[in-house]
Amino acid sequence: MGCMVQDRYLRPVLQAAVDKNDHIDYFPNIKIQSHQCTAECANVTTDAGQDYTGKLLIAAEGRQSATATRAGIRRKGWDYGQSALVCAIEHENPHNATAYQYFMPQGPLAILPLTNNRSSIVWSETHERANDIMQLDDAAYLSVLRPRFGDFLGDIKLAGKRYKYPLSLSIAEEFVKPRFALIGDAAHGIHPIAGQGLNAGLKDIAALCHVLQDAHHRGENIGAIDVLERYQEWRRFDVNLLALATDGFNKLFSNSNALLRAGRALGLGIVNQMPKMRRSFIREAAGLGTKDLPYLMR
Ligand SMILES: Cc1cc2nc3c(=O)[nH]c(=O)nc-3n(C[C@H](O)[C@H](O)[C@H](O)COP(=O)(O)OP(=O)(O)OC[C@H]3O[C@@H](n4cnc5c(N)ncnc54)[C@H](O)[C@@H]3O)c2cc1C
Repeated sequence: MGCMVQDRYLRPVLQAAVDKNDHIDYFPNIKIQSHQCTAECANVTTDAGQDYTGKLLIAAEGRQSATATRAGIRRKGWDYGQSALVCAIEHENPHNATAYQYFMPQGPLAILPLTNNRSSIVWSETHERANDIMQLDDAAYLSVLRPRFGDFLGDIKLAGKRYKYPLSLSIAEEFVKPRFALIGDAAHGIHPIAGQGLNAGLKDIAALCHVLQDAHHRGENIGAIDVLERYQEWRRFDVNLLALATDGFNKLFSNSNALLRAGRALGLGIVNQMPKMRRSFIREAAGLGTKDLPYLMR
């Protein structure tokens, strides 16, 4: 279906591409403090006091986007009451490039294959329980983790730091304003149950580039709201569907109700027996599901 790419390898590659591009100025330790979008231009001021002016301002500040808030964009969503515990583990037995996901009442546990005998763990628990588990030392942490997925990978040990992320749904009510667009988690923060958040953000970038390139070729103003609304229209349906699906999966699977358990086992069994349907789910998860793929994704 796809590959797990660790963030720590992805970042330097993206950084190197940015460094090589003369058209991109990169200021790593500077924050955008204020902005103004008018009919003529978009302008930002950084906390270091510099001013930048352009045709369009694109905010990619994550789900707490202060620029989106300043632009008067409201968000809808909710706290899942869960936190994700994240770590890498080393294990005795090979994972055979297979990802596993265990569904437990308190939340899912994903074991995602990395290089060699290593896997990434994304393990959801209630906030309270996650806080308690984070307080444990490494040995006690592993003793809580181990029984959750058994011994099919042999003995396990931690391979790096442990992290905790509170999980919530947070969708911007608008993705665009005149001379302003939101991409990535600034537009939509979803549950990581399907590992689709960053992928959805990359798709935003591809769709926005596509819309802007077409508008530029037609001689249109790339900051005009009617141009930017094409991007919003393109992405909003897809994103809402993804939010609904991940939200639904989480509710359906983080549950010990016997009827729901029987229903979901039946559903997964049916999908498993229907190769065509299974392939279409896989294509969808790999970001290849829609026919109208932006230029950059073709
Ligand atoms: C536990 C977990 C597991 C996940 N697993 C997957 C997965 O397997 N696959 C997948 O596709 N996605 C996954 N995701 C989702 C993915 O991490 C996010 O969708 C992705 O990080 C969003 O990227 P982003 O750049 O839009 O926002 P962020 O990663 O939030 O980055 C925003 C950046 O903007 C900066 N910033 C904020 N405000 C300002 C400002 N005013 N000025 C300048 N800079 C600013 C921040 O410092 C930050 O660096 C997972 C998420 C979680 C929590």
